[in-house]
Amino acid sequence: MSAVGLALTGAIELVLALITHSVGLLGDALHNLSDVSTSALVFLGFAVSKKPPSARYPYGYERAEDIAGLGVALVIWASALFAGVESYRKLVGHGQTTHLGVGMVGAALGIVGNQVVARYKARVGRRIQSATLQADARHSWLDALSSLGALIGLVVVALGYRIGDPIAGFAVTLFILHVGYEVTTELVHHLMDGVDPETLHVGKAAAEVVPGVLEADLAGRWTGRTLRLDVEARLDPGATMAEAEAVGRQVETAVLDAVEEARQVRFIARADAQR
Ligand SMILES: [Zn+2]
Repeated sequence: MSAVGLALTGAIELVLALITHSVGLLGDALHNLSDVSTSALVFLGFAVSKKPPSARYPYGYERAEDIAGLGVALVIWASALFAGVESYRKLVGHGQTTHLGVGMVGAALGIVGNQVVARYKARVGRRIQSATLQADARHSWLDALSSLGALIGLVVVALGYRIGDPIAGFAVTLFILHVGYEVTTELVHHLMDGVDPETLHVGKAAAEVVPGVLEADLAGRWTGRTLRLDVEARLDPGATMAEAEAVGRQVETAVLDAVEEARQVRFIARADAQR
C-alpha cells in the first residue's frame, strides 16, 4: 500500500519537475522513487525466498534479495549523482524555473504523500508489532522534510531569487545520499554475514540454562531473512548419545523462543572436558 502511494507521489512529482524544470522537485521525485524501489525489493525477497531449497541451492534462494539489493543501491547512488549534477548545472547555467504554482503543488503533494504513508506505516507497524515498519514510518516522516525543502526552494524563486531551486536541489540530493548510505551499509552487513552481537548473547544465555549444558558458544548468520544459529554446547562427558540428543532438542526450542528472529538452530554437542 505504502509503495503504491509513494510511487504515485513520485511519478506525479517527476512529471511536474519536467514541466517546471525544478531540480528541487526532480530530486524529491527521484528520492521517493528510490524508496519505492527498496519496498519493491522487499516484495521480491518474499516471493523468491518462498522457493524451496534444491540440490543446487541447498540453503534456498533467499540471498537473491541481497543481489537485487546491489542493483537498488546502484540506482539510488545514480539518482543522487543525477540530482546533484542537474542542480549544479542549473546553478552555473542560471536555468529558469517555470510554472511555479504547478511546482509548488507537486512539492506539497510530496509532503502530503509522505505524511499519509508515514501515518499508515506507523499504525500498521504498531498493530503487527514490526520494528522495521515503525522505523520505516519515521523515514517517511523525515522524507516530508525533503519535499518541504523543494517547496521552500520554489517559494524563494517566486520571491525573485532564482538560486532557491538549485540550492533546494542540493539539499534534496543530500537526502538521497543518506538513503544510499543506509541501504548500502545494511546490505554490506548482510553480505558479510553480520549479526547483532546482542542476539548471540541472548541465545547463549537461553542455551546455558538448559539442564545438561555446561557451556554454550553461539555463531549465526543471515541467509536473506532467515537467521541461522549454530549452538556449540559442552555437555557432561558421561552423557549418552540419546541424552545429548534430548538436550539438543531442548536447546533448539529454548534458543528459538529467546531469539525472535531465529528461524533455524543447529545443535553441535561437544563432550570434551577440556577445551
Ligand atoms: Zn526516503
